[in-house]
Amino acid sequence: MSNYTNFVAEHGTAIQVVLYAGLLTLLWVVEWIVSAEPFGVKWGAARLNVAIMLLALPVQLIMTLLVVIASAWVTVHHWGLLYVLPGSSSPWSKYLLAFVLLDLGDYVYHVCMHKYHWFWRFHLVHHSAQSVDVSTTIREHPGDTFVRVSFLVAFVLMIGAGWGVLLLRQTVETVANITSHSKYRLPDRLSRVLGWIFITPNLHHVHHHHQRPYTDSNFGDVFSVWDRLFGTYAELPTDDTVFGVDTHSDKNVTESFKEVVMIPFRRQMRQKGQLADNLGE
Ligand SMILES: [Zn+2]
Repeated sequence: MSNYTNFVAEHGTAIQVVLYAGLLTLLWVVEWIVSAEPFGVKWGAARLNVAIMLLALPVQLIMTLLVVIASAWVTVHHWGLLYVLPGSSSPWSKYLLAFVLLDLGDYVYHVCMHKYHWFWRFHLVHHSAQSVDVSTTIREHPGDTFVRVSFLVAFVLMIGAGWGVLLLRQTVETVANITSHSKYRLPDRLSRVLGWIFITPNLHHVHHHHQRPYTDSNFGDVFSVWDRLFGTYAELPTDDTVFGVDTHSDKNVTESFKEVVMIPFRRQMRQKGQLADNLGE
């Protein structure tokens, strides 16, 4: 291995953290400059999201260890779907196919978070943001973090995903997740072209609309093809999009750290509307 490859392999997690924090901060500053919003207003929303992220951070770090252990174990034992398929040692299988399957795993995780009431209680904390900007990316309840990374561990074991593809995926996912929460949409035409394959800010904004069935659409993480394939793809113009969750519109709740953290444990009302029929509800 070259020195460069060695360095990436040894410091993969640290590089991910720097990339994540750097891109998030950079785009947040760009949003602030472009919108010409007073700093206090912009920081007010971000501060709550940063506090929620710090609460979830220990869960994220501990669970990441499990992902590392799972990927090392499948590599040593040649365990998982990739190893029973022909050509398991080719880079196409190890990287491309594994990447696509991990993305499908993320789609499945996301559908489950919306479909099952106890999962939704935790995931709705992310959706409860009534203004979406790049800082919304890190607004995730520790309970949601626990379930998300548990799904990832399960998919690593099922697929047989090695550390290399996980690093590649995390890098692409960082860019995709942060940009899809951008305050600004892409020009319609560009989004329509990119949206054939990728989740764009335009598509992810629809997912943050406050009412079903739009909340239950565009579940994709990096690729939008799963939504097209499973009938959960939707478009909604900017002017018709209202961020948040219709059952949690009280800003005394959605803008208070204590209240937001307690959302999963309070009495819940079901959102109006239905999941798409083909999701089986
Ligand atoms: Zn969601």
